[in-house]
Amino acid sequence: MEKYIPDVYQKSIYTIDYPKLKDRGIECLLFDLDNTLVPASIKVSNEKIKDLFKELKEKGFDVYIFSNSPKSRVKVFADELEVNYCASACKPFKFKFEKLLYENDYNVSEVAIIGDQLLTDVLGGNLVGITTILVNPISPKDFFLTRIPRTIEKIILRKLRNYDLFTLGKYYD
Ligand SMILES: [Mg+2]
Repeated sequence: MEKYIPDVYQKSIYTIDYPKLKDRGIECLLFDLDNTLVPASIKVSNEKIKDLFKELKEKGFDVYIFSNSPKSRVKVFADELEVNYCASACKPFKFKFEKLLYENDYNVSEVAIIGDQLLTDVLGGNLVGITTILVNPISPKDFFLTRIPRTIEKIILRKLRNYDLFTLGKYYD
């Protein structure tokens, strides 16, 4: 069950204490796209994300969009936000995470994944050994392929809460 517990849990990408991450040695931030940056139905970014990403880059972070969505969707956001990207990331599988770490010469202690799903973002990140940051999903409406994982996620969340390991709404960093 530990593989499903995020290192940090925040309400949204806007409430994360990024300077604190920097102090912990994080150099590279991997952002999930769907329901982390925008709802799955939205095809363009917005000023709020642009401002945040600009600020993060100014702080010296290497920023990526790391998404299971196809390149046709992910590249639009990456171009608009002027960040790197990895599409069809196959989270929770480790290989695309490991490829990115290897190619950029990052240690696991220098990279964090930020996403809204326990079964993809948190599990994948924990399997690789990078820092995992869970945020609440932006929209309750999921892309249809995400509905089954969400049902499994509910079961996992119930177990985690029963063992007093993780509770929704109890934020920490
Ligand atoms: Mg997501």
